[in-house]
Amino acid sequence: MDLGTVEELVAPRDRAELPAFAAGDLLLAGGTWVFSDPQVGARRLIDLTALAWPSLVDVPGGLEIAATCTLAELAAAPVPTGRPALELARFCCDALRGSFKIWNAATVGGNLCLALVAAPMVAFVAALEGTCTVWTPGGGERELAAVDLVVGPGQTCLEDGEILRSITLPEAALASRTAVRQVSLTTYGRSAALLVGRIDAAAQQLVVTVTASTPHPVQLRLPADVSAEGLRAAIAERLGPGDYYDDVHGDPAWRQHLTGLLAEEIRQELAAS
Ligand SMILES: Cc1cc2nc3c(=O)[nH]c(=O)nc-3n(C[C@H](O)[C@H](O)[C@H](O)COP(=O)(O)OP(=O)(O)OC[C@H]3O[C@@H](n4cnc5c(N)ncnc54)[C@H](O)[C@@H]3O)c2cc1C
Repeated sequence: MDLGTVEELVAPRDRAELPAFAAGDLLLAGGTWVFSDPQVGARRLIDLTALAWPSLVDVPGGLEIAATCTLAELAAAPVPTGRPALELARFCCDALRGSFKIWNAATVGGNLCLALVAAPMVAFVAALEGTCTVWTPGGGERELAAVDLVVGPGQTCLEDGEILRSITLPEAALASRTAVRQVSLTTYGRSAALLVGRIDAAAQQLVVTVTASTPHPVQLRLPADVSAEGLRAAIAERLGPGDYYDDVHGDPAWRQHLTGLLAEEIRQELAAS
């Protein structure tokens, strides 16, 4: 869609060329949402893809995913023997029910920062203990746990002018065993529940990350050998009936039911393997 209020497009090639944040600025990544909405109030687009960050980089201790890495690139990433948890990438990309055209443009960072309740990249990076690197206005940088980035529907903890630069997944999480479940109300509908389980071998814990059924991700850490009853009790303690999300993609009572069901399936799968 034409954005009738936009007067300027800036395409910085490096950080020094990033303009100081001003009212009316809108960061642009893949544009699959930016160009799908009127964006009343946007005066200047800042095209992050011009920064040409390498999409996937092996760094000491893990894998760095640039915020501008597309879903298509992430889904096509090889899954080496030592990083079986990367299988999740393809599953989570599939959970975004867009065509290849969307996959080729939509970015991991755009998905995280748009912060839709059904954002599958939130499940992916939160479940794998990602750390977000954020560029702050004035040239600084801060880090935060990926599970803390999204705080509600369409809301992140980023301040005005902050840019998500990358997400780093630690080697230990990439090496871990995972199980994932997703349910939508309709065949091509957004996720009503998307849960990932992971065995944290060092801590001997089952880590269950609940997304899509709740307004923001919720992570539970339980003993690796938790029983069905123990899991059910832990979920009930953390999430009451009022904590589940309500929209056209599923009502809260159904989402609560799905969360318990899928978490138990995940527990059984990881216990068996
Ligand atoms: C058919 C279709 C199906 C879709 N299904 C889903 C779905 O199931 N789940 C879902 O979550 N989304 C869905 N979307 C919405 C959207 O396409 C995705 O969320 C996509 O991943 C957004 O990424 P993008 O790179 O296109 O972001 P953009 O549209 O470029 O930006 C999205 C928002 O994030 C901000 N932003 C982008 N990058 C950064 C950054 N690095 N730092 C700070 N802010 C940033 C932008 O300013 C903007 O507010 C769908 C869209 C379509 C068209």
